[in-house]
Amino acid sequence: MHPDIFHKDFTPTPYWWEAYTPTAGELIHVPRAVRVAIVGGGYAGLSAALELAKHGIDAVVLEANELGFGASTRNGGAVSGGVNVGKSFTGKTVEVDGDRVERILSDACDAFALIDRLIDEEKISCFWEKPGRFVGAWTKKHYDGQSRRLVMLNAAARSGAYMVPRERQREEIASDYYFGGMVVERSGKLHPALYYKGLLDACRRRGVMVCAKAAVTGISRLGATWRVETARGTVAAGNVVIATNGYTGRLTPALRRRVVPIASHIIATEELPPDLGRSLIPRARTLSDTKRVLCYYRMSPDGERMVFGGRARFTQVDATVSAPILHRYMTDRFPQLRGVKVTHAWTGNVAFTLDALPHMGQRDDLHYCLGCNGSGIAMMTYLGYQTARKIARANYACSFDTDDFPDHRLYFGNPWFLPIVGGYYRLRDSLDRLLA
Ligand SMILES: Cc1cc2nc3c(=O)[nH]c(=O)nc-3n(C[C@H](O)[C@H](O)[C@H](O)COP(=O)(O)OP(=O)(O)OC[C@H]3O[C@@H](n4cnc5c(N)ncnc54)[C@H](O)[C@@H]3O)c2cc1C
Repeated sequence: MHPDIFHKDFTPTPYWWEAYTPTAGELIHVPRAVRVAIVGGGYAGLSAALELAKHGIDAVVLEANELGFGASTRNGGAVSGGVNVGKSFTGKTVEVDGDRVERILSDACDAFALIDRLIDEEKISCFWEKPGRFVGAWTKKHYDGQSRRLVMLNAAARSGAYMVPRERQREEIASDYYFGGMVVERSGKLHPALYYKGLLDACRRRGVMVCAKAAVTGISRLGATWRVETARGTVAAGNVVIATNGYTGRLTPALRRRVVPIASHIIATEELPPDLGRSLIPRARTLSDTKRVLCYYRMSPDGERMVFGGRARFTQVDATVSAPILHRYMTDRFPQLRGVKVTHAWTGNVAFTLDALPHMGQRDDLHYCLGCNGSGIAMMTYLGYQTARKIARANYACSFDTDDFPDHRLYFGNPWFLPIVGGYYRLRDSLDRLLA
């Protein structure tokens, strides 16, 4: 272990788990029959179940591990109002034709409104705030590119976005690291594990069956119904929803080859002296940047720690590998944090799609909502909700529901190429900066 950066109380678990640790709880029986079986108990699965319950439709959530095992209790807690939609894991924004971009951004805007409403209606205590986001420009060219997207973002996603030139950057961040950047007023932050717990409580209040340790091992047709086999028994279901995102496995090969699981890593620092903690991000926004291999960061809800994430590696690696890299990225931006120790380091999987867009729809008659592309607190909540509305035949329209969920003829779900891709994009980032 790198002795200089690790605190004596270091733990390789998410900082957020101090408030809610994923647990199997008291195991409830897998029912024999249900209208809807949902595979995956993250935000998407719970939100689908919650909305189904509101329509009087009984659902069971089948989670392979403890409740909250996936990305939903491991993320950075920065809630996007749409600015990230279409950003691929190469850092590039995908080209989508004009009309569709507007509808997509408009839906992303609805996703933000949904999470705002859910937290209020379900009285979820999760430190939900809407201070906005600052996206730092890695190069002058990136700054100019951000400026060109402003009109679209403000028109379609009502982002309240504006540019902050380099001379005024210190109003946003106690650092000269970027070439200015963009503020997106319509974005927020929360405590991801407490938001998760709030959704879980809301489901339970409405009688949703949420089964931990119930890995789904097989799904087959039995006449008009589905036979869903789990580690703890078989359930017959009218509909099945796949909500496994970055943990999509061999159970659904056709979906597995449409999502690329990429690891994201985070560290949390020890408590900082109050003046230092308050000074780093003066407006308490969340931050990210325009690099291909981006970093994202914020202060903890109590304002005492820096929570700093990024793709230190594109694959799952030990904290002894990821934490020193993230610590270096952090002190590149904030030299004033040199010497500050890391108390927590953790990792989780996000799901990228080949067109960098989230997807919902039906394949072989199975419903799915997948592909957060790194930004899924609002989006996966929304896609779960929309999938439920589609099943309930409620008033429903969603631009992410298309038949066009691309695959690649050479990709079958094993992302062996990620270390190479990661190295290449880190190199490209360095070159961009050198030439800036
Ligand atoms: C480190 C990190 C940082 C992130 N930061 C942000 C951020 O700041 N802002 C943001 O908006 N998003 C962020 N994200 C993304 C966000 O966390 C995800 O998009 C979101 O949590 C996905 O929710 P989900 O329900 O789709 O999937 P998950 O929460 O990943 O849940 C999927 C579940 O499916 C289960 N599963 C898989 N296979 C089976 C099976 N066969 N049977 C039963 N269960 C199964 C898994 O065990 C898992 O629990 C981050 C993600 C990570 C990992």
